[in-house]
Amino acid sequence: MRTATSTLDLREPRTLDEALRVLRDDGPRVPLAGCTDVFVTLHFGTQPARRFLNLWPLDELRGISTPGDGAVLRIGALTTYTELVRSEAVNEWLPALVAASREVGGAQIQNRGTLAGNIANGSPAADTLPVLAVAEAVVVLRSADGERRVPVGALYTGYRATVIRPDELIVAVEVPRLPGTQWFRKVGTRAAQAISKVVMAGVRGPEPRVAFGSVAATVVRVPATERCLAGGGSIEEAQRVLAGEIRPIDDVRSTAAYRLRVAGNLLRQWWEETA
Ligand SMILES: Cc1cc2nc3c(=O)[nH]c(=O)nc-3n(C[C@H](O)[C@H](O)[C@H](O)COP(=O)(O)OP(=O)(O)OC[C@H]3O[C@@H](n4cnc5c(N)ncnc54)[C@H](O)[C@@H]3O)c2cc1C
Repeated sequence: MRTATSTLDLREPRTLDEALRVLRDDGPRVPLAGCTDVFVTLHFGTQPARRFLNLWPLDELRGISTPGDGAVLRIGALTTYTELVRSEAVNEWLPALVAASREVGGAQIQNRGTLAGNIANGSPAADTLPVLAVAEAVVVLRSADGERRVPVGALYTGYRATVIRPDELIVAVEVPRLPGTQWFRKVGTRAAQAISKVVMAGVRGPEPRVAFGSVAATVVRVPATERCLAGGGSIEEAQRVLAGEIRPIDDVRSTAAYRLRVAGNLLRQWWEETA
């Protein structure tokens, strides 16, 4: 590892309240959940931060439940991919998140990587984000001063930029019941252990919902394409609308032209498979 660990300052709070007080009183620190994203930056010596806050022991941030009258599925911030895959409630409410979780990294990453880590890291290629976008999930943020709920659609302000304040932590994600059939597909260089070139989640219900990853600076819903399909447009028309609605880029993983083509193909595949 290129970063000397002796240069790092790590706080290990025992409770969530203590963690939030540390963030309020002691200044900004990078929260560590499963550390699968942060470790890569430490390994390559590209992590600018020196002050960290270990969330991993905080069991208050774990657990999957359907609180109150069962109107929402609440997933704790530290829930790992393995836990999502094994959860009966997630399999019932949000099978697309199970499908996405199965395709994240390998077994080691799935055992350690968390849902909140994927959200906060905010990569446009993050596999859970298109699912959370079509599910219209709400991210629960807490600071020492209180709690607020931010819809996933309002969380990102640009490439890997979020509205999460330095004194806030993601404590949970809440997902309402989704009307319709859920669908997820990730296209990468190979079938497993690959970062997405294009990733899509869709819901085929009274109002079709579609979100893509890796086609813009953030994961995006495609409202014009959704409206076209909701209004009875053909899949060919929707593909044309989609082509004008997303602006993928060329980068090390793929080309804009390939991404545009694959996005259109995924749209069609979703529409045909959920007919
Ligand atoms: C080999 C490998 C393969 C991978 N494959 C995939 C893949 O296929 N698909 C994919 O989407 N990702 C993949 N990843 C990326 C990574 O595993 C995921 O993004 C994972 O969900 C990150 O979770 P974590 O708990 O490890 O986050 P960490 O590394 O602990 O944190 C990531 C970021 O989130 C912040 N954070 C974490 N928890 C909170 C919280 N509760 N509140 C506020 N901020 C928080 C941290 O400060 C940091 O900025 C891969 C990574 C590796 C190393």
